[in-house]
Amino acid sequence: MLQTARLDEAVEVSGWVKTKRGNKQVCFIALNDGSTIHNMQVVAETEHFPEELLKRVTTGAALRVKGLLVKSAGSGQATEVQARQITVLGDADPEKYPIQPKKHSLEFLRDNAHLRFRTNIFGAVFRVRHAMAFAIHDYFNARGFFYLHAPLITASDAEGAGEMFRVTTLDPLSPPLTADGQVDYKQDFFGKATSLTVSGQLEGELAAMALGKVYTFGPTFRAENSNTTRHLAEFWMVEPEMAFYDIRDNMDLAEDFLKHLIRYALDHCMDDLLYLSRRLQEEEKDRKAEERSAELIEKLNSVLDNPFQRLTYTEAVDVLKCSKANKNGKFQYPVDRWGVDLQSEHERYLVEKHFKRPVILTDYPAEIKAFYMKQNPDAKTVAAMDVLFPQIGEIIGGSQREENLDKLIRRMNEVGIPAESMSWYLDTRRFGSAAHSGFGLGFERLLLFVTGMGNIRDVIPFPRTPKNAEF
Ligand code: ATP
Ligand code: MN
Repeated sequence: MLQTARLDEAVEVSGWVKTKRGNKQVCFIALNDGSTIHNMQVVAETEHFPEELLKRVTTGAALRVKGLLVKSAGSGQATEVQARQITVLGDADPEKYPIQPKKHSLEFLRDNAHLRFRTNIFGAVFRVRHAMAFAIHDYFNARGFFYLHAPLITASDAEGAGEMFRVTTLDPLSPPLTADGQVDYKQDFFGKATSLTVSGQLEGELAAMALGKVYTFGPTFRAENSNTTRHLAEFWMVEPEMAFYDIRDNMDLAEDFLKHLIRYALDHCMDDLLYLSRRLQEEEKDRKAEERSAELIEKLNSVLDNPFQRLTYTEAVDVLKCSKANKNGKFQYPVDRWGVDLQSEHERYLVEKHFKRPVILTDYPAEIKAFYMKQNPDAKTVAAMDVLFPQIGEIIGGSQREENLDKLIRRMNEVGIPAESMSWYLDTRRFGSAAHSGFGLGFERLLLFVTGMGNIRDVIPFPRTPKNAEF
């Protein structure tokens, strides 16, 4: 509307009132219809409208305005609507409406997540979220990938990526029991124990070994009780899986993919990003210069300008072991030996302090990674790759998959997964096996980076976290 209508044309606009100001003669209404961060300024000369009507124009009320699009006399906008007719579609009692034209804390808005879409900040975040989802489909479609819908209900609990939510229709108070007193899942809906999926990867592999290149993009569930700013119990994951790709091809794809998405945001969401950037700087203005984070647009551009730093887990452990932070006891979890799992503090040290750019870590110890990763000739490490980002830590986890049937079964035995239970998965290695690779991108972690938001609960419309499933 702001972009297409011509001057001195009759227009009709609908939206919600952001603010109203003015004097005895004229009233200025900032109206927003959600399509952009910018408001439409509506100018109403008070003599043409009943006082009763203008009183009902309060923050949050829904209006329809008919009028003339004219050049704006004021600064701040090029055009405005000179109102001829105003209809209040829905009042918003200022005594009761929680979202007022002042700064609300993000915590307050989380408690009012059903209304937080009405704020500038969440309008911006969710427009960017849409653009990123669209860009993901666009990226893969243009490169010959097929969008695969992996099931959300699964009977395999072997992936080991996290605790699972059970799916059952059994009576929770008196479930049927087996002879030895266990819950008898044979009598459950699916005739076996089922859960919500922690990843669509295994199914993705099956499809990739026929369609070549596929990706999933859907909700994923983890019942891990980690109350952090980077974990949700329900999050969206993007999982490409490619036949005939080795670990190097996989890394190249991950880097190109992330850069493409960030470039897309800069090209298509600049208004919203500028708003988010200003807000961040506002928030940080009382901090010391060295504690402030980089300006959002600059930070996004800097990822585009530099190749990601690639190094092995072993090299990273050496860097961390010798780091000042480690020697001065700055890490909560000291890095004292090869084989430790890296914590987000270590990942962020490598990215933010040491290399000052995104990092791809490869060749992790087999012990700390999933059973399906390709075993390296050294018999200690696997062809895993994690992409680490500033402020976030791990944003992507992936690997080349073990294609050799015997090696895969041996590893499953070692970690206690009965091969019979995953016979369907092993069939891809029995028939026409080939090198293949893939990775998982946490969609909300990407959004944290692109929007500069600090808490993952603020980049998904309705967050699901421990003790919280409101709305
Ligand atoms: P982390 O170590 O950060 O908990 P992970 O190693 O368990 O992550 P993967 O199983 O490798 O995660 O999942 C792939 C990607 O999914 C991660 O790189 C991350 O971006 C995202 N992810 C994983 N768990 C969560 C979660 N609970 N909430 C949001 N995103 C997640
Ligand atoms: Mn991981």
